[in-house]
Amino acid sequence: MPKGIVYLVGAGPGNPDLLTVRARQLIESAEVLVYDYLVHPAFTHLLPDDCEQICVGKRKGFHSKKQEEIQEILLAKAAEGKRVVRLKGGDPFLFGRGGEEAMALAEAGIEFEIVPGITSAMGAAAYSGIPLTNRSTNATLVFVTGHENPEKLDTTVDWENLPKKDSTICIYMGVANLDRISERLMAGGFLPETPTACVEWATMGHQRVCRGSLGTIAQESKSFGLKAPAIIIVGETAAMSEDLSWFENKPLQGRKLVVTRSKGQASELSSMLEKTGAEVIGLPLISITGAVKPEVADEIFAEIASYDWLVFSSPNGVRYFFEAFFQKFEDIRSLGFLRIAAVGKSTAKEIKKYFVSTDLIPKEANAESLAEALVETDSLDSAKVLVVAGNLGRDVLIDKLEEARAIVDRFEVYKTEQTDLSENPSAKMFREQGADGILFTSSSGVRSFIDQAKYLQLSPDALRPKTVSIGPITSATMKQIGMPVDIEAKEASLDSLVDAVVKRFGK
Ligand code: SAH
Repeated sequence: MPKGIVYLVGAGPGNPDLLTVRARQLIESAEVLVYDYLVHPAFTHLLPDDCEQICVGKRKGFHSKKQEEIQEILLAKAAEGKRVVRLKGGDPFLFGRGGEEAMALAEAGIEFEIVPGITSAMGAAAYSGIPLTNRSTNATLVFVTGHENPEKLDTTVDWENLPKKDSTICIYMGVANLDRISERLMAGGFLPETPTACVEWATMGHQRVCRGSLGTIAQESKSFGLKAPAIIIVGETAAMSEDLSWFENKPLQGRKLVVTRSKGQASELSSMLEKTGAEVIGLPLISITGAVKPEVADEIFAEIASYDWLVFSSPNGVRYFFEAFFQKFEDIRSLGFLRIAAVGKSTAKEIKKYFVSTDLIPKEANAESLAEALVETDSLDSAKVLVVAGNLGRDVLIDKLEEARAIVDRFEVYKTEQTDLSENPSAKMFREQGADGILFTSSSGVRSFIDQAKYLQLSPDALRPKTVSIGPITSATMKQIGMPVDIEAKEASLDSLVDAVVKRFGK
């Protein structure tokens, strides 16, 4: 049996982009993931499909697993010979009981590795524009907890005697005790005017910052409705936050959007939306996998140079076609002199990645327009056309090409299937919180949404999302099954989809 190993990994403050490279590598190859409540569901998308997931969900006033139980799980899974990733919010050695877990592993003689993470105070500082140190004002930095034990409100911290001169104080777990903490800091000599900021859900799309001074912050945070998790930063540099707040000024900051694409496809759209400040929930309603049959590929590739047209109806088709092509050939010239058509700009963009240009793109990105544009070239009579498709490809394209007397071969290179959302952590997040918008980029995604509606029922106080469609075909499917189409992109492309969303939800 292989020897088990446990990685104590810092997940960073929550924003999936702030994961370290090492953390990402380990999550991608984990056999068991043991994670906390504050860990973002996006991380679970990185996991191998067969990884066992154990949520030990720690939350104030609610412990789904006691610390000893968590340690027992780690020991037991390592004893089974597993690669265990224990993912913890922020940094594992900062107010996260990582020390106790590491000690338990060391005592049991189990191999382990500690992977640091960006701690939430640093995330909060960066994303709210508060330098933690500053030459002229702040030279000492304190990380302190307002709550050593979530079960008791007392704290043993010597608040009156924290360094006052030129210091920045970052308080973790301080929301519930903020009035007492601020009073005690002032009793110890901190001036009531000291700038103070509370950063709630730091680094996340729904980050909020409550700004004030030490004397007023307890009151202000109440009217602000400040809730955990938040970091409270006390010190002169907290005043710089207004000028340096690069993150909150983004157009979609504070907006939550659901991306319903497959795991592999979602990242491009998600990062485009995240750049505009939105928080993205990835809800993979469908999965797309390669489905090239070797015998079919052999037959088609043997004659590839004899085709007149190569037609792509989706970026996925392009990706899986070229994957199979380059398994067979080493050189792009083996494609021969055929002409290439793509259904739309996104598909052409994907083709371009292989340094191949597209000869024909119809005005509108749909199968009918593609067929018409091909017919208009007047080149189809007795021409050999290879249509690259998925299992759900619409027949209208092939029918129309055949009507124009083309000899059409269909090459199925991928398949689209519904995923199972019953246990999906993003689905859970969606049910609990809802979203401002839900983006549909394909008819199969829409159908899967309806089929899995029972796993996507919103709780009473969740946000009701507006529905956003990438284009007319997806919209038609939505309307057909009685779903409203609140927003439709001008052109069926990701850029246009993001534009439409920014226009509707942007500040
Ligand atoms: N090990 C973690 C801290 C865990 S203690 C780290 O290094 O960040 C939990 C506390 O961390 C919360 O009460 C809150 O004060 C802080 N915290 C965690 N995530 C946060 C976030 N996204 N925004 C603000 N504070 C956060």
